[in-house]
Amino acid sequence: MSWEENVRKVVPYTPGEQPKFDRMVKLNTNECPYPPAPGVRKMLQEMPYQDLRLYPAPDAKILTETLAEYHGVEPEQVFVGVGSDDVISMAFLTFFHGKKPILFPDITYSFYPVWAEVYGIPYETQPLDESFRIRVEDYKKENGGIIFPNPNAPTGVAEPLSLVEEITASNPDSVVIVDEAYVDFGGESALPLLARYENLLVVRTFSKSRALAGLRVGFAIGNAKLIRYMNDVKFSVNSYTMNMPSLLLGREAVLDDAYFKETLAKVVKTREWMKRELKRLGFSFPDSQSNFIFATHQEKPAEEIFRYLKEKHIFVRYFKQPGIDNYLRISVGTDAEAEILISTLEELLK
Ligand SMILES: *Cc1c(COP(=O)(O)O)cnc(C)c1O
Repeated sequence: MSWEENVRKVVPYTPGEQPKFDRMVKLNTNECPYPPAPGVRKMLQEMPYQDLRLYPAPDAKILTETLAEYHGVEPEQVFVGVGSDDVISMAFLTFFHGKKPILFPDITYSFYPVWAEVYGIPYETQPLDESFRIRVEDYKKENGGIIFPNPNAPTGVAEPLSLVEEITASNPDSVVIVDEAYVDFGGESALPLLARYENLLVVRTFSKSRALAGLRVGFAIGNAKLIRYMNDVKFSVNSYTMNMPSLLLGREAVLDDAYFKETLAKVVKTREWMKRELKRLGFSFPDSQSNFIFATHQEKPAEEIFRYLKEKHIFVRYFKQPGIDNYLRISVGTDAEAEILISTLEELLK
């Protein structure tokens, strides 16, 4: 079996499970509990299906122009991809090409070390402090690039814009990627810093706040030069990542800003209710600015709670990883789902 010697062997990222039960409460992958904007449904019905015969526009202009207008930047500053996973993967491949290690927190999105491994990028994780905060001094050492989510995952902790700026300003020789998957739910976006720092790339996704995890759309905004470098790499791998339906449906989601804001407000309101109830039941957690709460209980081990909830078809995320193995990451659902969660926990803990 000598062919196996030439195989690229990797330890893959493990996504959260997608259980299928008729009646379940699914709070394990931070999806939006509400449907996508009504315009998305309308477009789904009216889509020019004959156009599927043709290749989609390689520049994905329909979507980059819409996003540029929404965020007040130029279309040349926008890169779109198949979910932000694809966007971040392309950013790793494009910007993290030196010999020095890239830096990211030790408790963070667990896909970062996977991309680093598969692309052969050296990396060094930096410990968060005891309140799960990023220690800015850790990001002032020699490095080949920096990435962190803000708010961070799975903690939900949002760092102030001043920290993002300090890290970006201290590293003019590296590209700093801020993964803003959850920024719509709270926290400050780094977009206003783009005018001053050409080494900054901001990544966003339609999966969480725009209720389109199933569509797979993500994007990055940076200065035109960074985006051009990313596109050069992308066109060297797969020119047509963005299919025609994604472009049309994604645009509809951005155009309906009223629906978007309404959905966000509902999620935030439920999140704040969940915080109060979880506290009442003896949980503690860093204050979340995202659409999930990272909670630990004063008495009951997280793994035990996880199993109990799972039996009742209530799914939350549990990471059996040193430092966070007594925590549960609970996505914010609808009010009805949150009530089921709280009453079930109440039964277990009484
Ligand atoms: C969910 C998530 C992503 C990826 O989302 P996509 O569905 O690929 O857009 C990226 N970063 C963080 C921190 C996430 O939580």
